[in-house]
Amino acid sequence: MKFYGGIEAGGTKFNCIVAHDPQNIIAEKVIPTTTPEITLKEVARFFKETEKKHQIALSGMGVASFGPVNLDESNPDYGSITSTPKIKWQNTPLVSIMHRYFDIPFGFDTDVNGAALGEGKWGSGQGLKDFVYITIGTGIGAGIICNGLPIHGLIHPEVGHMLVKHDLNRDPFAGYCPFHGDCLEGLASGPAISERWGIDTKDMPMDHPAWNLEAEYLAQAVHNMSLFFSPQKIIMGGGIMKKDGLIEKMRLLAQTSLNGYLASSQITKDIDQYLVTPQLGDRAGSLGAIVLATLATSS
Ligand code: ZN
Repeated sequence: MKFYGGIEAGGTKFNCIVAHDPQNIIAEKVIPTTTPEITLKEVARFFKETEKKHQIALSGMGVASFGPVNLDESNPDYGSITSTPKIKWQNTPLVSIMHRYFDIPFGFDTDVNGAALGEGKWGSGQGLKDFVYITIGTGIGAGIICNGLPIHGLIHPEVGHMLVKHDLNRDPFAGYCPFHGDCLEGLASGPAISERWGIDTKDMPMDHPAWNLEAEYLAQAVHNMSLFFSPQKIIMGGGIMKKDGLIEKMRLLAQTSLNGYLASSQITKDIDQYLVTPQLGDRAGSLGAIVLATLATSS
């Protein structure tokens, strides 16, 4: 059996995993995101130690990273984190640094594209060619899978920064995004909710008015994504989506908003099969990195 290294590189922690698939995971480690020098050295040490302990050699490695990142393989900066607000990580050539430790094939993509691939192979997107995985947490981001692979395009999609209708009379909160103010992420990410209401989302009961407003913004995103990409399913992940009852509210609002225009029973009738939660839970990203590794190894 071949084993791969998977790295979900996040702004607060790196989730590292050595696995063949979800049933065959031989090691996992969470490493805090401090500076590239310290964190990446720790990451390399974990994989080296796992190879030694289990007497294996990794066949490939996958990195699903926070961004923005450079995904253009013809560009010398391919595999780098670029203009992130995390100053110490700006212009960090993540893949080339890891390549110095491991001379094996590397796959690289955004964190959300990685998670989308993971859900596609082993989770809620199994058997689908076209779907969206969107995560609502500290930020909002989405992987758009088209014909089985993530869309990259000019840079990569940044669905979290789409514009949504914002009624300033009902919701005078100016928005949280440093670039756009009241884009979707500026209105509906975890920090936006906390800042608007002045309490942590964890301390908000289910009947807090925050959740109806949140469902409305997210339903607008579902409306837009359904029309833009015609996905077979939209998988809604991230910490905010763990709130009980939120996805049910969104399903109703999205159906109402689309108003029968997309005449598929997936939306008009069986929307609980269309708008779903992830199955891999907190491992979507790290297992997605394993998928990136397998793709890099087979290409
Ligand atoms: Zn924005």
